[in-house]
Amino acid sequence: MMDVVSLYIVWFVAGVVVGSFLNVCILRIPRGQSVVRPGSSCPQCRQPVRWFDNVPLVNFIWLKARCRWCGSRLSWRYPLVEGLNGLGYLAVAGTFGFGMVAVVYALFVSVLLTVMMIDFDHLIIPDVISLPGMVIGFVASTFIVPVGWRSSLIGIVLGGGLLWGLAILSPYLFGKEGLGGGDIKCLAMIGAFLGWPNVLLTLFLASFAGAVVGVSLMACRRLELGQYLPFGPFLAAGAVVSLFCHRDIFRLYADMFR
Ligand SMILES: [Zn+2]
Repeated sequence: MMDVVSLYIVWFVAGVVVGSFLNVCILRIPRGQSVVRPGSSCPQCRQPVRWFDNVPLVNFIWLKARCRWCGSRLSWRYPLVEGLNGLGYLAVAGTFGFGMVAVVYALFVSVLLTVMMIDFDHLIIPDVISLPGMVIGFVASTFIVPVGWRSSLIGIVLGGGLLWGLAILSPYLFGKEGLGGGDIKCLAMIGAFLGWPNVLLTLFLASFAGAVVGVSLMACRRLELGQYLPFGPFLAAGAVVSLFCHRDIFRLYADMFR
């Protein structure tokens, strides 16, 4: 039997390794490329990355953030995604233990991280992520995580429906289209994993954070009026906060009206 510290280390390393795969997904899924073949190569000189240079997180340090062959800079995003995913897995294990529930939520955190980065780069959330995610979330909520199929199903309909309604109304409300189909399907997927109360919390947190960031960016002239701010990163961040903190937030909310 492994002691708890070793379990956490294994869990973190697993998160970093999966994070390395997420980097491949973030790069290739929006381009419609396979995430399995070919192996990774340098974006500048196209030299394949050797297996010993492909050790996540540490490779960045011993390669001094440069390609071994052409010396071009490696993006700091690679270790960032790997590290964040590792930390995410630690948080999941710390909150939900080391069972199947934690495996489901670890997968969910990885999917959210991928969505966040892809939407940030390309202003899209690919269907190949959110549609299978919806199905997996529903099945997991039915059989593994304590959400239940009813709450999951209502979460899908509510999450998708609310954003769909907002997307239809936004040309009238804001004079422009504010939401894409990707956002709609993404919140439906989040509802599948988290159930309906948390989908409302996620939407509230994401809208609030999106408004604060949007107004701040406009205030320092980093964002022009009418320019598009991707909503996916806010939805993903809102879902992560809901996953880990919903009990505290709902308790705080209940206390306010006591
Ligand atoms: Zn290179």
